[in-house]
Amino acid sequence: MSNVVIIGAGGVGTVAVHKCVEAGEVFSDLCLASRRLSRCEVVAGLVREHHGRSVDIEEVDASDTQALTDLLKRRKADIVIHVALPYQNLSIMDACLAAGAHYLDTANFEAPEEANFYYGPQWACHDHFRNAGLTALLGSGVDPGVTNVFCAYAQKHLFDRIDTIDIIDCNAGDHGYPFATNFNPEINIREITLPGKYYENGQWIQTGPLEHRKTIDFPGIGPRDAYLLYHEEEESLARHIPGVQRIRFWMTFSESYLTHLRVLQNVGMTRIDPVEFEGHNIVPIKFLQALLPDPAEIGRNYKGKTCIGCVIEGVKDGKPQRKLIYNNADHEIAYRETGAQAVSYTTGVPAMIGAKMIAEGHWRDPGVWNLEQLDPDPFMEDLNRFGLPWHVIDRDEPI
Ligand code: NDP
Repeated sequence: MSNVVIIGAGGVGTVAVHKCVEAGEVFSDLCLASRRLSRCEVVAGLVREHHGRSVDIEEVDASDTQALTDLLKRRKADIVIHVALPYQNLSIMDACLAAGAHYLDTANFEAPEEANFYYGPQWACHDHFRNAGLTALLGSGVDPGVTNVFCAYAQKHLFDRIDTIDIIDCNAGDHGYPFATNFNPEINIREITLPGKYYENGQWIQTGPLEHRKTIDFPGIGPRDAYLLYHEEEESLARHIPGVQRIRFWMTFSESYLTHLRVLQNVGMTRIDPVEFEGHNIVPIKFLQALLPDPAEIGRNYKGKTCIGCVIEGVKDGKPQRKLIYNNADHEIAYRETGAQAVSYTTGVPAMIGAKMIAEGHWRDPGVWNLEQLDPDPFMEDLNRFGLPWHVIDRDEPI
């Protein structure tokens, strides 16, 4: 039995708390901590409504390492599930080291002043965690997260050699808003407006933002236009999947979404540097976030499905193979169960499962790990058990 502190009372945090409650005795003491107590109260109310169980709540600024360390010590935290923002990864890792708690996040470190998305500063903590006998799991969401575990599963069971990986991500849902993001708007827009790149033969090939488009047939959804993006799991998979020659990431966007984004970019509303306005410094993307719908609250009328998976090519028993491993999630089902939409759901479920892997000792090696470095089998079993069933099919067409 482990004491867990979940940091971040947004959409993903809402699902993570529900799922920790559902996991029963694995987690003895549950606490949700976030910047605003009022958000924690909303989430605790949802958990009471769905499960009849109360959850402790605390207010904390997770970028304040000392305040967070005090909280973790007071709660006797064994595991921290960090589902606040990537800006806080390093301060939370420091607090975990100081308080003797295992650490887990769903997105890699991001400095507020540069949109970069790279694992370097977190990988550099490996020896600190190893020496402290603590485990840190990086990227235990859906992508990164489930997609990394799918690759580990393919490597263990389906292939003798993996040549290429195409990660495919489709949200075919409709939330009814003219423009909204499915997770934190600031992080989401920073990610999408970056130049693209992909990995090939040991090199990173640069592309313009959303320069490459392909129509991909997504199981359970049908053909959709998807765009090549850089996504953080490419960095760790390139490092950890032996011999892989190419890794790409494809995500779908509607025409309406792209038109809104283009206009916002053209007028400077996605800028991340401060702009002086009437004597105040304003960061346009932060102001934009204040105007956009809250991703934790767009679930009510959301309809449709998501499909996220990996198309993997390689060789098994001397024969070439192409497999697709994927999950379909449904916005309405996710909302009924947790009060959050499917993008939060597909991230919050694996966040809980990662913590469960640590709590049960399946993934307890001291150090800092990406999920493809760990045994995929117990995690894959729990995906089926906790609401993200997966499938493996042969895929005739290459991406
Ligand atoms: P939200 O913006 O809905 O929620 C973030 C929460 O963190 C908010 O409650 C916010 O508080 C809180 N928070 C922000 N800063 C601090 C701080 N300094 N201290 C304490 N709490 C803080 O985001 P989501 O729930 O949509 O996303 C959460 C994380 O999940 C993000 O890092 C995102 O990148 C990641 N993600 C990962 C995915 C994956 O597949 N791996 C997919 C989707 C998301 P307040 O309410 O006061 O603003």
